[in-house]
Amino acid sequence: MNSSTPLDLVILGSGMAGLAAAQLARANGLKAVVFDKGRRIGGRVSTRRAAGFTFNHGAQFLTARHPDFVNTCDDAVAAGALRPWPVSGRDAFCGAPTMRDLPSFLGDHLEITQGVEITRVENHDGLVAFHDASGLVATARQAVITAPAPQAKRLVADAAPELGAAAATATYAPCWTAMFGFDADALPEHTAPIQEKSGPVGWGVWEAHRPGAVAQDGAALTIQAAPDWSEEHLEQDQAPVAEAILAAWQVASGTALGRPSYMAAHRWRYARVMTTANADAPRISANGRIALAGDWLAGARVEDAWLSGRMAIERLAAAAA
Ligand SMILES: Cc1cc2nc3c(=O)[nH]c(=O)nc-3n(C[C@H](O)[C@H](O)[C@H](O)COP(=O)(O)OP(=O)(O)OC[C@H]3O[C@@H](n4cnc5c(N)ncnc54)[C@H](O)[C@@H]3O)c2cc1C
Repeated sequence: MNSSTPLDLVILGSGMAGLAAAQLARANGLKAVVFDKGRRIGGRVSTRRAAGFTFNHGAQFLTARHPDFVNTCDDAVAAGALRPWPVSGRDAFCGAPTMRDLPSFLGDHLEITQGVEITRVENHDGLVAFHDASGLVATARQAVITAPAPQAKRLVADAAPELGAAAATATYAPCWTAMFGFDADALPEHTAPIQEKSGPVGWGVWEAHRPGAVAQDGAALTIQAAPDWSEEHLEQDQAPVAEAILAAWQVASGTALGRPSYMAAHRWRYARVMTTANADAPRISANGRIALAGDWLAGARVEDAWLSGRMAIERLAAAAA
């Protein structure tokens, strides 16, 4: 792409909010490009492959209630990218064979560039200009910023400081996710996820026990600590965190496990939205060029992120009309 040719729209972030925005923009006939700093599509809807194991270490499942999102999930089910997961709720789904398959499905046919970290957003000659560490990346008539609130606040500080008010009011709980790989014979009979409100085991499941799970040679176990425990241990090193979570899992599940052949922990600083942005704060810049999106504007779930992305496009369209 030639960075000097203005696009209709630049979207920062290929999470659920960014993908929803990009899909609606495309349906509206706009030339939109998504930039994301991560290696892979999906943001917090994510899957990690390591040492031959596959772990869904971000969002564990999603729920669909709004008719538009229900339709999208139905399409994803028909394409084999989602499966109903009744054990997690009547309206719950999980990605198939992995959680990342949902964003991959949504991102099909969209123009998305991963591995680009936007460091500066500015208004320039009636356009929004996006820069990374080495210079100008793209310009566009309008933009959607879907980074988590603290990062969004920094990004819009020059181009749309009025949007900082919304970003300043959202708060998050962190989450430690621990991942363990065992020999196949460690896999128990089919079990439902274990869920507890507090402590080192907030939610955990053997990956093979998800519907439509990816086939694995070994047994992969993913456990997410509850918000209180994650907050308390946020600055600890990975190894003791993973050890503590594994010990607690054995107590919670009543099973003794041997040493895992793979063990890791991932620290999500901005995992779950605890306070959504003040409803009265603006979501679109005074000049009508930059809109905010992300779960933190509407709720704390995948569906909220998706709805916020569509809302951003509707706001930008209204401003341009
Ligand atoms: C551990 C965990 C468990 C969860 N469990 C559930 C669950 O069970 N059910 C549920 O519904 N939700 C769950 N969630 C929440 C759900 O994942 C989020 O609500 C949703 O994925 C947020 O989507 P988003 O697009 O708003 O943000 P994100 O997915 O965070 O996307 C933002 C994107 O912006 C990119 N970005 C940020 N800054 C820059 C920059 N400067 N330049 C370029 N790119 C940038 C990031 O790389 C990221 O990809 C969970 C989240 C976590 C972390």
